[in-house]
Amino acid sequence: MSPPPPAAPGLANDTAVPIPPEMHSPVDLAGDLERFRDKLSTYLKSDEVARIESAYVFGNTAHLGQFRSSGDPYISHPLAVADTLADWHLDAQALAAALLHDVMEDTSIPKQEIANKFGKAVAELVDGVSKIDRIENQSFEEAQAENFRKMLLAMARDVRVILIKLADRLHNMRTLGAVPPQKQRRIARETLDIYAPIANRLGLNPLYRELQELSFRHLRPLRYRVLEKAVKRARGNRRQVVDKISEALRLSLPDAGIEAEVMGREKHLYSIYRKMRQKHLSFSQVLDIYGFRVIVKDVPTCYLALGVLHGLYKPVPGKFKDYIAIPKANGYQSLHSTLIGPYGTPVEVQIRSREMHHIAESGVASHWLYKDESALDELQKKTHKWLKSLIELQSASDDSAEFLENVKVDLFPDEVYVFTPQGKIIPLPRGSTAVDFAYSVHTDIGNRCVACRINFEMMPLRSELKNGDRVEIITADLPNPNPTWLSYVKSSKARAQIRHFLKTQQMDESVALGERLLGQTLHGLGVQLRDLGSAVWERFLRGVGAKSKIEVLADIGLGKRHTGIVARRLVADRIAEGGTPTEHKPQGSIVINGEEGVALHLAKCCRPIPGDPIVGIIRKGQGLQIHIYNCRNIGKASHERDNWVEVVWAPGIERLFEVGIRIVTENRRGVLAKIAAEIAEGGSDIQNVSIDSDPGVYTALNFTIQVTDRVHLARIMRGLRHISEVVRIIRTRD
Ligand code: MN
Repeated sequence: MSPPPPAAPGLANDTAVPIPPEMHSPVDLAGDLERFRDKLSTYLKSDEVARIESAYVFGNTAHLGQFRSSGDPYISHPLAVADTLADWHLDAQALAAALLHDVMEDTSIPKQEIANKFGKAVAELVDGVSKIDRIENQSFEEAQAENFRKMLLAMARDVRVILIKLADRLHNMRTLGAVPPQKQRRIARETLDIYAPIANRLGLNPLYRELQELSFRHLRPLRYRVLEKAVKRARGNRRQVVDKISEALRLSLPDAGIEAEVMGREKHLYSIYRKMRQKHLSFSQVLDIYGFRVIVKDVPTCYLALGVLHGLYKPVPGKFKDYIAIPKANGYQSLHSTLIGPYGTPVEVQIRSREMHHIAESGVASHWLYKDESALDELQKKTHKWLKSLIELQSASDDSAEFLENVKVDLFPDEVYVFTPQGKIIPLPRGSTAVDFAYSVHTDIGNRCVACRINFEMMPLRSELKNGDRVEIITADLPNPNPTWLSYVKSSKARAQIRHFLKTQQMDESVALGERLLGQTLHGLGVQLRDLGSAVWERFLRGVGAKSKIEVLADIGLGKRHTGIVARRLVADRIAEGGTPTEHKPQGSIVINGEEGVALHLAKCCRPIPGDPIVGIIRKGQGLQIHIYNCRNIGKASHERDNWVEVVWAPGIERLFEVGIRIVTENRRGVLAKIAAEIAEGGSDIQNVSIDSDPGVYTALNFTIQVTDRVHLARIMRGLRHISEVVRIIRTRD
């Protein structure tokens, strides 16, 4: 920021933002350029100044023939932006980039050309600013301002990009009078919602105030003018009171041996307006609070001065705030207190050291302004707590360019911001995928998502999202979350919802299976499950200490309870409740159609297909496994037979089942192709093929193919035997 004007007593030396009157006189380019050059030479080396000048020449040529809405040559705008950055003492790279900041967007000069002429760092800065411009120009009516701010900060990995963008916005706001009113309001609203808060977040206080004042003037021109007049009028009436208080303050401090600078503070129109609206105060109620600032040499003196002022005027209880001990998020430090002045008027005082004052005025830029003063550096380490966590000072060297390279703003390193097709911004943890996005929009969208478009292109669901991506989710009619999603989702919401769904689904399937198993066993005992009344069930539940019928059925389905034991107990309870004993009948079978889900599955070891003789095995906690009757992996011991369940295939199953076959052939060129063609001919798909590693005269090929049933498999194997090279075919089990 520009250094504050020399100290002078009273209101003349306030921090009010000088808003120039709204009229336009053509710019004096030559004069501006000369002043700019002078400013640069105060803090940059001559070769750096020369490089900046060549950037000006390049930019001027590129923008030649372009004009601003005001009629000024276009180059006057980048020059003004660079001039502001020179006030903040930014380095040569940032200044060159500021002079070139619109050439990529407005004159279509490629990034590479800038890199060739001015280096990669400058090109990256220009590119960063252009990217923000591009996002800005899309319409995001529903975009929440807070997320938009965060996104801009996260996108600009180098803080200089944001500083250039802020200076750019400042100049556009200062010259906003030349654009149509509709556009004025839109830009003013955006500045108030997005850029002013960013300036505040970075501790650029005067910039923050000026952006607010300018936005207010263009957003609410009438209210602005009324307030402006009222403040001018009031100022005259207040003069006497202000002089009296400031005199008292100025005298009391040296009496206590404190050297201090005292200044009155003028309220900004926007903050008056906001206070009136938010606290429902009248204009005079807001304005009749007098503000003063006391600047002293160090921290201990701040507290001494506070003591003196509290002795002079009574403090208002509960109004004291110690922002020295606990700085504000943007690094701001001061003591704030409200005193009861003469005539009972409230007096707000801010007490701060000179260093704190500099930080309050220039925020993030103070890193460059004061980088050589180690004492101040030490202070900043303490005060800029948040900045410290954001900016990595890996090797703060004397060279400002290198220092800057190391000062990366990573304000929100753990988040990415993406857009819905409607322009709504969704914040997600970094590394999030389209599935995370789907769940964050709505649980139902997450459960039903099957595919996605990222920036209008079909992408896999597991694609990692980047800042600014536009994401569109394609959904199916029915929910079908995939357990593999759990291996790549990042957000806890998605994870929890997927787990929840799978668990509920398994529960439902287990209950259904348990019901079938129990029904079958009861049938064998001459009892129908549906005929068991609630009295029987209640007696049963009491007896075994279970909570509900559903729980018991799920337990049976999951193999946690033995269906035979439950069935016999229920029969006994039925008799106890007055039912008549029945004759035992032979057990029926469970009919399966291969589409059962997690509670019932086909064993991977023997891969049964319709037509195979099968048996069901209840495995504890895993539900029912279907094996081929003579599979090696099922225990034949009698105690294990207790877990066997009779199962049969449903007639006319239409889905495909996987089965393994091993084919031994003569090792000849082209034999694999022949076999593959034959399998396809047989109406089957090959899922997988592997070939034994050291082929001799014969070689063995292992296929996984899809068939509808045993008849289908037999047909395919018959076809394969006709191939002359094929020696032997067997169905595999492992
Ligand atoms: Mn611009």
